[in-house]
Amino acid sequence: GSDGVPGRVRVAVRLRPRNAEESVADADFADCVELQPELKRLKLRKNNWDSETYEFDEVLTEFASQKRVYEVVAKPVVESVLDGYNGTVMAYGQTGTGKTFTLGRLGEEDTSARGIMVRSMEEILANVSLETDSVSVSYLQLYMESIQDLLDPANDNISIVEDPKTGDVSLPGATHVEVRDERDFMELLRTGEAHRIAANTKLNTESSRSHAILMVHVKRSVLGAEDVIPSETDKSSHFAKPPKPLVRKSKLVLVDLAGSERVHKSGSEGHMLEEAKSINLSLSALGKCINALAENSAHVPVRDSKLTRLLRDSFGGTARTSLIVTIGPSPRHRGETTSTILFGQRAM
Ligand code: ADP
Ligand code: MG
Repeated sequence: GSDGVPGRVRVAVRLRPRNAEESVADADFADCVELQPELKRLKLRKNNWDSETYEFDEVLTEFASQKRVYEVVAKPVVESVLDGYNGTVMAYGQTGTGKTFTLGRLGEEDTSARGIMVRSMEEILANVSLETDSVSVSYLQLYMESIQDLLDPANDNISIVEDPKTGDVSLPGATHVEVRDERDFMELLRTGEAHRIAANTKLNTESSRSHAILMVHVKRSVLGAEDVIPSETDKSSHFAKPPKPLVRKSKLVLVDLAGSERVHKSGSEGHMLEEAKSINLSLSALGKCINALAENSAHVPVRDSKLTRLLRDSFGGTARTSLIVTIGPSPRHRGETTSTILFGQRAM
């Protein structure tokens, strides 16, 4: 576990409740997992008499509220972004286990349903001063190693630019929209989502086969250390120099990852196979980077995929990273649930 240490990854697991279909079809069967949230433990049932126990930084049951999930998973990252550091929150798991529910729900009719994207923006807007600071967002989809602008979908080949000196990553080709209030932001998310659906229909694929990436850029004007009011003795030397505000930039990256389910290569061919390979490539590259961070390794292999190149300045170093792995309860998905849990474990 990381306990909020910058550079390490905090890992939470979230179980979604049984859905209507599972309540009927699995009525005679126990869930494939049993959670012990107070011990931060999860037991994965292998069969009726045997289970394996795993520990996480947080264990969120099917009763965990969206508010609580935000507070334990995202809030520390958002606070550190407000302090000028980069941060990332990622949701990983099989399609249908609640990644989008956790990150992307707008909660228009019921604010308690709001997900991490809206809550993070709420917190950021409440803590900056729009007189002197600015908040802007880009919203992207990463599909088959190409980056598409969800705020301007014709723009579907955005390149990643890395500053060789600072290691900062930017996407100069992406639309950056200034956000002044929560309603602006929800409108952007709705527009992006509509563009995502249209683009994926055109590409003949599902949203679950691409990564959705929201970047929130925060620029704050702060007084530099040299602008601290000088003491009586050296006041004269500063007399002619008015305090100049410095601009401190940071970004929060929220990633709704492509579904982690294994696509059976034997049954896939052509486009489907290429798509499956591309998802495997980026998720395994992400896994390797997260493992390297967990092991405090000097070499984090960010070059292996677009996803990890894009996240390069948003994890490791002074950046703070949270991973939420989402699972379902059905014993029929024990295999996928096991591999999701193991992905989360390797990150710790
Ligand atoms: P994913 O994005 O991982 O494919 P979704 O977020 O779309 O999964 O969730 C699949 C379904 O399960 C949706 O109908 C969603 O509303 C429901 N769901 C997911 N997580 C929860 C939860 N914690 N509580 C209640 N319903 C949930
Ligand atoms: Mg989804």
